[in-house]
Amino acid sequence: MKAGIVGLPNVGKSTLFNALTRSRKAEAANYPFCTIDPNVGVVTVPDERAYVLQKIAKTQVVIPAAIEFVDIAGLVAGASKGEGLGNQFLANIREVDAIVQVVRCFEDPDVIHTMGSVDPVRDIEIIATELMLADLDSVTKRIEKTQKKAKSGDKDAQAELALLQRLEPHLADGKPANTLELPDDDKARLKQFHLLTAKPILFACNVAESDLAQAEANPFVQKVADYVRTHHDAAYVPISAKIEYELIDLSPEEAREFLQDLGVSDSGVSSLIRASYALLGLQTYFTAGEKEVRAWTIQKGWKAPQAAGVIHTDFEKGFIKAEVVSYEDLTTLGSVAAARDAGKYRLEGKDYVFQDGDVALFRFNR
Ligand code: GDP
Repeated sequence: MKAGIVGLPNVGKSTLFNALTRSRKAEAANYPFCTIDPNVGVVTVPDERAYVLQKIAKTQVVIPAAIEFVDIAGLVAGASKGEGLGNQFLANIREVDAIVQVVRCFEDPDVIHTMGSVDPVRDIEIIATELMLADLDSVTKRIEKTQKKAKSGDKDAQAELALLQRLEPHLADGKPANTLELPDDDKARLKQFHLLTAKPILFACNVAESDLAQAEANPFVQKVADYVRTHHDAAYVPISAKIEYELIDLSPEEAREFLQDLGVSDSGVSSLIRASYALLGLQTYFTAGEKEVRAWTIQKGWKAPQAAGVIHTDFEKGFIKAEVVSYEDLTTLGSVAAARDAGKYRLEGKDYVFQDGDVALFRFNR
């Protein structure tokens, strides 16, 4: 799961990003799959359940789920026309599952606002417009290509063309692709267009340190909340990039005290991660053995073989059965043996839909 961090200059994007990469480097070092790139920060997903399972599995190692945050610098007005770093910027956004836009919700005369004043909704719309224009460009090009195929009688191409011709005026009207009401088959087609405005977007409202405890009362945050209410696939979370940055060099105890003094339980980053999860329709299942307890991220609604596939593609290809127990049953009964005796371990086949918190063991053909 990959989220791209974007934002106008001087909104606190680098502060947040540097804090995420530096403070989390120690945790990130546990990740075998992750080579730390200067513009990628790995943030673990806070989930107490993994530590409860650790006691039951009697293992030393816990590997939490993680989200990669990619710093996507270089947005300038005119990006959609390929100005400045524009093309690279748009290409980077194309590769992420979700967009996190940092918006400035703090006033500070010492920090210049490039647009002259603090106005998060205007800032949101500046980026939205660039994304929309880029999408409009891809849709227009795709229409040209598809027209030929559609004329030759290709049924698929005809359906695609009909969708593209609905999308074009929609985007030209200034509306994101994900606000178009579509039947399921068109939704699947839309995915293949890889449009930027079809991606879910989360607004990280960067508030002043002193405002974080009562962030919902902040008039800038309220404006973003109103905006989100009328937009599909969008959400917002108040954060304080500055607090997150100040936490870097603190021990866990010092960090807790520092946050307590500010009247908050975290800098907003945990909420940011939870909100990303919800927005993307993600959930967690666990594997728990002597070697390690590990959390895995999957989409809601995924069936057993797909869920197995996030561990290894061989698990998906050779899937036979999954042995599954719910987190509640396992932790209530307190041990694997007790859960087995109580008949709480189920043998599930390829049509089983994974549930949040399932603890699983896969059987597969090598
Ligand atoms: P970027 O251009 O969006 O990457 O913004 P930066 O992270 O470089 O931040 C721009 C300036 O704003 C820096 O001087 C930061 O110290 C400052 N800044 C970032 N977040 C906050 C905040 O929450 N409050 C205040 N007062 N300043 C902040």
